[in-house]
Amino acid sequence: MEILLATQNEHKKDEILAMLPQNFRLKSFKDYNFQGDIEETGKTFSENAYIKAKFGYDLAHIPCFADDSGLVIEALNGDPGIYSARYAGTGSFDDNIAKVLENMKNISNRKAYFISVICWVNGDEVNYFEGRIHGSVSTEIKGTQGFGYDPIFIPDGSIYSFAEIKPEKKNQISHRAIALNKFMEFLKRK
Ligand code: IMP
Repeated sequence: MEILLATQNEHKKDEILAMLPQNFRLKSFKDYNFQGDIEETGKTFSENAYIKAKFGYDLAHIPCFADDSGLVIEALNGDPGIYSARYAGTGSFDDNIAKVLENMKNISNRKAYFISVICWVNGDEVNYFEGRIHGSVSTEIKGTQGFGYDPIFIPDGSIYSFAEIKPEKKNQISHRAIALNKFMEFLKRK
């Protein structure tokens, strides 16, 4: 079966390819010559994942899935949340981190979680798969690996930030891994 991953991010495609059961052929926007951006106008991770997956389904007319993810911080009322990629407005990971640390100065409740929501659209069939990993926001940057908010996120039960552990290890326990595993179980039953 051919399925489409609605993303411009080829890195995400590789991560998914490595897990995909053999009877699926993964397509991406590249295969349909689509290079634009899809406006993420939703108010939740699920809505944004759906917008992207539905767009892809309407474009290609094959089953399509998309993911949306971000960091949710309790003391900031859920920010940066769905705005995680564009929190500081510059598109820079360093600026996003600086803004979080500034906004959390003198705040002792550091609880946060990463969330990933995958949405699958196949005609009228719509399914969601969610993964979360709970932890806390450090008071300073730690580590150089990974991307995004990894240098300030410490998963519960660890003393190391996501940027201090090997990407292979992070990819086994992350919010994205949890959501992807649920999604793969679903695909295996197809
Ligand atoms: P998107 O789901 O690709 O739109 O990603 C949203 C944003 O959430 C990213 O740009 C990162 O800032 C943040 N994010 C999502 N997953 C992770 C992660 O595993 N580590 C660090 N930051 C993440």
